[in-house]
Amino acid sequence: MNTIHSRSSLSANATLLSEEDPSPVALYRGGNLDWLVVSDHASARVPAALGELGLSDADRFTHIGWDIGTQAIGRRIAQRLRCTLIECGYSRLVIDCNRYPADTASIPAVSGGVRIPGNAGLTDADRQARVDEIFRPYQQAIANELGSMQARGGLPVFISLHSCAAQWGGRTRPWGIGISWSHDARVARPLLARLGTNRELTVGDNLPYSLDLGIDFTTPEHAGRRGLAHVQVEFRQDLVETEADAIRWADIFVDALLDCESIDEWYAEDRSLQQAFLPAPSSWFVS
Ligand SMILES: [Zn+2]
Repeated sequence: MNTIHSRSSLSANATLLSEEDPSPVALYRGGNLDWLVVSDHASARVPAALGELGLSDADRFTHIGWDIGTQAIGRRIAQRLRCTLIECGYSRLVIDCNRYPADTASIPAVSGGVRIPGNAGLTDADRQARVDEIFRPYQQAIANELGSMQARGGLPVFISLHSCAAQWGGRTRPWGIGISWSHDARVARPLLARLGTNRELTVGDNLPYSLDLGIDFTTPEHAGRRGLAHVQVEFRQDLVETEADAIRWADIFVDALLDCESIDEWYAEDRSLQQAFLPAPSSWFVS
């Protein structure tokens, strides 16, 4: 699979990322299918200038820092589907690319009960640098990719990958995989039906998370605005910690997806969806 780490986003007046830091956008070409897989939380990396945000590696590499397993899952899915994958290259603790920049959770002072020293006392300029140098180029790359697919006549299916902690509120979450959706049932409903035929799986329907308009950023802002068929997926982290396990769960997902008999119906622009989603223009990226 070809890997393209674009450096074009590193502007002359960058104050956060330096030449030693990788691009905020990691793009993998699995093939020419006009579907797009995105992974907002695939990396636990922190820009060199931020000194690991004052965190130990033990904290940074737990679920608060990234979505464990989603790198291997995303690359496998892109290979299997022969489509493009875009990952954010930096930790959600630097800036959470699935939150609106005005949200207090965008650059969290505390996450999962852990205080983030490097996020305390930030100036407006500090925050703006994270938006301008990580959030915006990542979101722009997704907008550009979808725009290119649509310009050549494609109606891309949009898949957003996440993973979730196994334990929450003192309990183990029962769902090995969860499908998150809101107004667009085109992919979610048949996918849930297919996954539900496997008696070895415990599948969450909008569990442990639903797709929340106004909270989730990436899927509503890109796929919702364009009326594209889409789904958001959560894998339980303890099941996808090793590469072999991540690949196994990616295959479970892809097999179920490709078994859906209504795939042809996904290639459509649903204008009612565009209304249901976000009628106001977004200023976060150029679409
Ligand atoms: Zn996530």
